[in-house]
Amino acid sequence: MSWNQRIQQALHERQQQQLWRQRALLGDVQQTHTLRNGQPVLNFCANDYLGLAACGADDLAHAAQRWAMGSGASHLVCGHSSAHHELEQALAAHCGYERALLFSTGFMANLGTIAALAGRSDEVLQDKLNHASLLDGALLSRARLSRYRHADYHHLQQLLGVPANGERLIVSDSIFSMDGDLADVRRLSELSSEHNALLMIDDAHGFGVLGSTPNTEPAAGQGVRAHFGLSPQQLPLYVGTLGKALGGFGAFVAGSADLIDYLIQFARPYIYTTALPPALAEAMLANLKRLQQGDRQRQLQANIRYFRRRAASLGLSLMPSESAIQPLLIGDSGSALQLSEQLLQRGLWVSAIRPPTVPAGSARLRITLSAAHRQSDIDFLLNALAELLPVQEASA
Ligand SMILES: *Cc1c(COP(=O)(O)O)cnc(C)c1O
Repeated sequence: MSWNQRIQQALHERQQQQLWRQRALLGDVQQTHTLRNGQPVLNFCANDYLGLAACGADDLAHAAQRWAMGSGASHLVCGHSSAHHELEQALAAHCGYERALLFSTGFMANLGTIAALAGRSDEVLQDKLNHASLLDGALLSRARLSRYRHADYHHLQQLLGVPANGERLIVSDSIFSMDGDLADVRRLSELSSEHNALLMIDDAHGFGVLGSTPNTEPAAGQGVRAHFGLSPQQLPLYVGTLGKALGGFGAFVAGSADLIDYLIQFARPYIYTTALPPALAEAMLANLKRLQQGDRQRQLQANIRYFRRRAASLGLSLMPSESAIQPLLIGDSGSALQLSEQLLQRGLWVSAIRPPTVPAGSARLRITLSAAHRQSDIDFLLNALAELLPVQEASA
């Protein structure tokens, strides 16, 4: 088969299976009320949990006055500016770690960290529903990849019971991106210390959101470590992203000084890539201060509680999620897609998530909530869903 034929066949199959993916054009700032392909919609699919993506225009403009556009090189050559350095220090302090290291994206942070740490004789143990970048990181490392059933820590314990040759790395999402549930990170921490494994948690959806109990010191939104009350030694390897709750772009790994030095030496997606624009790093610092105030986390928690209470009273069957990610399981890809289309006709933007992003037969509507949603926005969505979906067993 020629390349052309292979490409055409793959495209054809995608369409046949109702799995065709396409991008919608956003015609406005990332806000809850925005323009999608020119049509006004209420957005329920962003990862902008605190509404910070629409903030910071002045900070960015101000930072651009100083730094202009680019960093000019990778961090190790001559791209590491004082703006990057300050942001790293602020992130480390915020999350309670000795040091932090900026990466261009969370995808690269995960690839780089796992592949730098694990090698051929090692084993990487991962939750089956971990983010694609974590799984790809393990493949890139050439270590043995063992996947345990989702949140099944007995299964993980069994796998850990088999003697290993090299070292072991246990890796999990904190909040799972397509299900919204939270890993038992305390249990993972106990298992990792019992078995001399290193624990790495990808807190993409928890950083900035979790650990936000009112009046916590020093600041809200420290992430999953604070949520479980673990020490940095109990959760030695932490990944956070700047593109979700922080409303910007980029990512970081936090840990001990030695660990960060090690990544600077050996993480190839850190070494061989251009540093983030320094103006962006400086502007992210301003968003971090906004995030630390805590009022946005409290609003988000109130929105989540309101959504779940009202959804349950309308008979919608929710998944067991306390996070901003509130999926409605539909099943087949065609129905999920159709529902998402019907919602769009009413001005509601909710993404249909289909295989291979989620397991076959578990297509869903992935509703994400933000502190920027108003109660009337949530009512509008729920009333539309109640009309469109056959009423299911109440699951309050
Ligand atoms: C979004 C996400 C990433 C990737 O982060 P980016 O900065 O967007 O590349 C990694 N892990 C998880 C769990 C995510 O949800």
